[in-house]
Amino acid sequence: MVNGTREGMELVTELTTHSTGGAERSGSVVVGVLALQGDFAEHAAALGRVGADVLEVRTVEELKRVDGLIIPGGESTTIARLMIAYGLREPIIERARAGLPIWGTCAGAILLAEEIVTLDRPGLNLVPMTVERNAYGRQIDSFEADLSSRELGGGPLHAIFIRAPRIRSVAEGVEVLLRLGAEQEHEPVAVQCDSLMATTFHPELTDDTRLHERFVGMCEAYAAADASRSVPAAAGGSG
Ligand code: GLN
Repeated sequence: MVNGTREGMELVTELTTHSTGGAERSGSVVVGVLALQGDFAEHAAALGRVGADVLEVRTVEELKRVDGLIIPGGESTTIARLMIAYGLREPIIERARAGLPIWGTCAGAILLAEEIVTLDRPGLNLVPMTVERNAYGRQIDSFEADLSSRELGGGPLHAIFIRAPRIRSVAEGVEVLLRLGAEQEHEPVAVQCDSLMATTFHPELTDDTRLHERFVGMCEAYAAADASRSVPAAAGGSG
């Protein structure tokens, strides 16, 4: 399924293309998956199903090469610690501030939040929302739910919550994509703030690729804008 470099932390210099019969894309964007801990392999496989090129990111060099980054589910305490140990925390924050699309799922969503209830180390402090870790209870309180998906189009989205965090509040400007129920007062479980997206469940564990499609679209838009910025002035320039 995914290349076998999970335990080796050596530089991964090859671009790993996961194409498992999904729509072929132009190949113009590379979607990174932070591969320090957690279910990054499942995200890479899901990206492969939508025809995206994937790079597992463990180094700053790899981070520089991507047009978007997924921070997977896992253990937010561990990922936070490893991000610092691998010198990736500051560079990720810098690229996010410069517009790089980042999508955090579950532990990744926790790490994106500006305020985290019960995380004893710094996260990334990027999305103005408050998130509480393990707020539905312990592993045994994990659950699945069908979310109505007006924002995404199509039918309900089946969502798997594993020791999930709860989004307790979001600031103005944070768009709620999905809630745990049809009413406005139901709590958000998928949000977007400009180029940052957070979901408290695990879309990479189901066959529904709508959120991966959405994120790859964000990466394509970012790459296109970035390319047009770096194109030298057209003919006639005095350069
Ligand atoms: N409970 C985990 C944490 O706090 C998140 C669980 C997950 O990513 N599935 O980091």
